[in-house]
Amino acid sequence: MSECQGVLLDVGCGEMPYKSLILSCPGITDYIGLDIENPHYQAKSKPDMYWDGASIPLPESSIDCAIATELFEHVPNLEATLTEIKRVLKPGGKLFFTVPFLWPLHDMPQDEYRYTPFALKRMLLNAGYTGIDITALGGWDASLAQMIGLWVKRSPMDNGKRAEFQRSLFPFYQGLLQSEQAKGQLSFEDMAKDSSMITGLCGRVVKPAPDAVECPVCGGKFAVFLPYGITPRSNALCPGCNSLERHRLLWLFLRARTNLFTKHLKLLDIAPFGLISEIIGKMANIDYLSIDKSSSKAMMQMDITDLGFQDNSFDCILCYHVLEHVPDDLKAMRELFRVLKPGGWAILQVPLKPGPTQEGTHISDPDERKRLFGQEDHVRYYGDDYKDRLECQGFAVTADSFVTTLSQADLKRYAVSVFEDIYFCSKPR
Ligand SMILES: [Zn+2]
Repeated sequence: MSECQGVLLDVGCGEMPYKSLILSCPGITDYIGLDIENPHYQAKSKPDMYWDGASIPLPESSIDCAIATELFEHVPNLEATLTEIKRVLKPGGKLFFTVPFLWPLHDMPQDEYRYTPFALKRMLLNAGYTGIDITALGGWDASLAQMIGLWVKRSPMDNGKRAEFQRSLFPFYQGLLQSEQAKGQLSFEDMAKDSSMITGLCGRVVKPAPDAVECPVCGGKFAVFLPYGITPRSNALCPGCNSLERHRLLWLFLRARTNLFTKHLKLLDIAPFGLISEIIGKMANIDYLSIDKSSSKAMMQMDITDLGFQDNSFDCILCYHVLEHVPDDLKAMRELFRVLKPGGWAILQVPLKPGPTQEGTHISDPDERKRLFGQEDHVRYYGDDYKDRLECQGFAVTADSFVTTLSQADLKRYAVSVFEDIYFCSKPR
């Protein structure tokens, strides 16, 4: 509760069992209990406010924080409910929740769902929350203890038997709870790794400010970047220009570490990509030329292993996520080195993973390529020897961990790749 302050909205408050406890917290200035009208459950106490389950009768951005305990399983359309709660929260406001996973049917027929952490995360993302933190309320031991407790207490049996089971199972039940306590809480990552049994989930999410993130490429400001990827990762894709974390990092690097914006340069862009190429192509100080093996988006169609340019033609080269597609990549590197002017620079960026480079230029099966190299049209996965491969073709290479120079505030603001080094290559004079 230490994270709660100001006006707290208790969504699905029931008989408001936590009201006095919440109001006793130092940061809380007011409590609003909100629930659907249901005389059956509201004989003892009525909520502060009723709603129809669709729209909360409160203005936008009027609430400092919200809680929803054991509510989500009763909601017919959780994404819509989460979106409505977000509407009434102030930017930066937090929503705290608990939801059961292992629990008997209850409040029938308004018992709609049980949630896995993964579905819940997707819905929270789709509703536009950030800072998503989901943990398990209990693991294997707590789950069995909970089942024993529920079975002894609630399942149909005669009272003599019930008393007997209560007595005989109690030490085992207690042992399970102690063992659970010793293990500590299961994080979202734990749950994603191992097949766990869980009793339920709890979590905290944040409503982002409308301009919480900024794309350095297109200049757009947004509450949050869009989710992206086969297993969608949050805060990734710019709604303004489709840039991803790595594109935004590259742009910041170009601005901070190169002469791209200050000198008159002849630039070769290999397989131009998106808005970055478009912007550079229009810069007054850049004599821009783009090539691609097949795409008509480039100005010329040309094979990277057979460049139709004279030696020492370009001041700089952008070759971004290209070499992993090229069967004879060493020949491509030699060609790039040949056409680069002495003293010129090239950014030769590729997907990387630890270990040696894994190559399979003979593999043509798209599924096999995807399995081995991460994409259907990749012929290798570069590893720790990538720098050596470039240096062997003559380049002086710096694997620049530029990202580590950014402040925490900038990392959050621009949402860039945190673990990516930029491969800045130059041709010695
Ligand atoms: Zn953008």
